[in-house]
Amino acid sequence: MEFKPQAIYYEKAIENYELGKQLMEKYKDVPKVEIASHNAIEEMRKKENKEFANMKRNLIIGVRKTHKFVENHKVSDYLVPYTSSGCTAACLYCYLVCNYNKCAYLRLFVNREQMLDKIIKTAEKSDKNLTFEIGSNSDLILENTITKNLIWTIDNFKNTKKGKLTFPTKFDMVDDLLILDHKGKIIVRVSVNPEEIINKVEFGTSRLNGRIGAINKLREAGYEIGILIAPVIFVENWKELYGELIKKLEAELSEKVKKDAFFEIIFMTYSYVHTKINEEAFPNAINLYNKEIMTGRGKGKYWYKEEIRKEGEKFFKEELKKYFPSNEILYIV
Ligand code: SF4
Repeated sequence: MEFKPQAIYYEKAIENYELGKQLMEKYKDVPKVEIASHNAIEEMRKKENKEFANMKRNLIIGVRKTHKFVENHKVSDYLVPYTSSGCTAACLYCYLVCNYNKCAYLRLFVNREQMLDKIIKTAEKSDKNLTFEIGSNSDLILENTITKNLIWTIDNFKNTKKGKLTFPTKFDMVDDLLILDHKGKIIVRVSVNPEEIINKVEFGTSRLNGRIGAINKLREAGYEIGILIAPVIFVENWKELYGELIKKLEAELSEKVKKDAFFEIIFMTYSYVHTKINEEAFPNAINLYNKEIMTGRGKGKYWYKEEIRKEGEKFFKEELKKYFPSNEILYIV
């Protein structure tokens, strides 16, 4: 079901952009608050942690001013700030919960022409065939249900001479993408977790069966596919849950997917800020901080201790070798 915002917070300048005008028209009946900057909404900053989920019912619309590309060495060559940041879902570990209530809600940026233009120019200037990660700040499949920005992006990128785009998702609303002529320039990476973890931790995202269906449909439509098993959460029965997940993927993914999809495995990281927000905003949810198996990693951040990470690495390598012998694991971190 499409997201219906309870209020729109917008910068006046969005009215100078085509998408800004479209969104103002689309949400003409939704209450609006004009803001000076999408980066500093005083009213939101003052809200208490327990209002976290309610805050996510708002939509913030602005113009993106920072366009700095950050080098990356995983699937992509650069992480690129793109058309949105934040999300309407509420995964308990979401890394976008960076600074209390500052930036978890969904912000849309309407200057998409400027952002895509910079990507195209960078791609064409390079000797290499660069890949750009456009989804590291939000979930673009979710965003697309509101803005149709993925359709616009693929349409405007497909005929460029060089470069590829990639993004990860936890959503299954991919039908808009299936009919597009993407010319093999898009790598979609779908993130999966055992259904029990999705239920208890990834609030507001698509179910596992939906995500598996989305992978099969996207591959059938010719998209290059990555499967992220992420983030791996070492709950008590993790071996059983992740073992079953891998078997389910083997049983339900299409032969086309199994032929050439690659895997990325990412172990969960967590933080003091997450702990505080989650205990007040979701008092009945499971506590993801486990001091027995987690340790500090920089100020206020936690990750799993080396022994468990090593055990996890061995487990995923062995299980994937058994069930997906011809699929590459790009990395386990
Ligand atoms: S779907 Fe992604 S962006 Fe949205 S809350 Fe979950 S982890 Fe964060």
